Amino acid sequence: CYIVAIETSCDETSVAVVEDGTKVRSNIVSSQIETHRKFGGVVPEVASRKHVETITWIIEEALREARVSPAELSAVAVTHGPGLVGSLLVGMVAAKALATALELPLIGVHHIAGHIYANRLVGELEYPLVALVVSGGHTEIVHVQEEGRFRILGLTRDDAVGEAFDKVARALQLPYPGGPHIDRLAHEAKESITLPRAWLEPGSYDFSFSGLKSAVLAVLNQAKMKGEALDPAHVARGFQESVIDVLVEKAVRAVRETGARQLLLAGGVAANRGLRTELAGRCAEEGIPLVIPPFEYCTDNAAMIGAAAYLKYTRGQFSSFDMKAEPLLSLEEWSV
Ligand code: ATP
Ligand code: MG
Ligand code: FE
Repeated sequence: CYIVAIETSCDETSVAVVEDGTKVRSNIVSSQIETHRKFGGVVPEVASRKHVETITWIIEEALREARVSPAELSAVAVTHGPGLVGSLLVGMVAAKALATALELPLIGVHHIAGHIYANRLVGELEYPLVALVVSGGHTEIVHVQEEGRFRILGLTRDDAVGEAFDKVARALQLPYPGGPHIDRLAHEAKESITLPRAWLEPGSYDFSFSGLKSAVLAVLNQAKMKGEALDPAHVARGFQESVIDVLVEKAVRAVRETGARQLLLAGGVAANRGLRTELAGRCAEEGIPLVIPPFEYCTDNAAMIGAAAYLKYTRGQFSSFDMKAEPLLSLEEWSV
């Protein structure tokens, strides 16, 4: 079966055609990063307008590149939350129009389920599994007991990890989005400054990154007041090491305590080289099978939405055409 999937939850306009929830026939992503860079972050109004401008030709392009005719399609999938409401609406209107015109069923997809099921594009998954979700708006440890059944074991109490990367990058006067720049600097650095780790209560799977961000700002301010030169690369590496330490430790513990058979990495921050290397090393030591999506399926894309939609498609769980954009959609409730 061929599912055409649409993703517009934030600042990427993306359309994909996915075969049987596993094979990507096309995956077109148009990023608005250049547009938002001068504002230092995503401007919601601008994002929705950009989605309107690009969505139609990206749908055409995705179908053309997939060499799939509209008559061969089985369903239309679309991210209906969480995300920016104005951005989500553009994708939903496009999806409903397409499904109506082609008389196809509609499947609303949870954006984070998409990030997790990006891993299904890599290979077969084994349940129960644990997913470490690290993105611009989310930081969660998710237990997936069986296919499409999500339970959140822990989440961030303040900033998401990607958000923390972007804020620290801004303090270091790096361009938006800062994650990849911190990653590069941390990689180049010969030394690192020591920063705190927020472990929270013993046994907790929750995260907190705002204290770490404040610690970075304090270090920068002190250096400035004393007139000392501080190598931004050392700060970047210290920050990244602190984040990775906590993420890796809690994810590995969750795998152990739930008896999971796999650990999946998901979300935009999964593109982080330091995190990928540390997690891979630790999982090898512990004998935990680790799955990490290729870079292009880590940040926002519609192929992952097509992969997650397939869970609902095979169960005949279709969405109503009254489906609303839900900025705060719950992952657990989206379970099959
Ligand atoms: P959400 O998925 O929670 O709705 P989002 O879709 O905006 O948020 P993603 O596209 O999944 O987020 O990820 C974007 C985030 O990933 C940004 O914060 C960006 O800085 C971060 N990021 C991207 N590449 C890297 C990297 N190499 N190292 C660290 N962070 C990175
Ligand atoms: Mg984005
Ligand atoms: Fe995302």
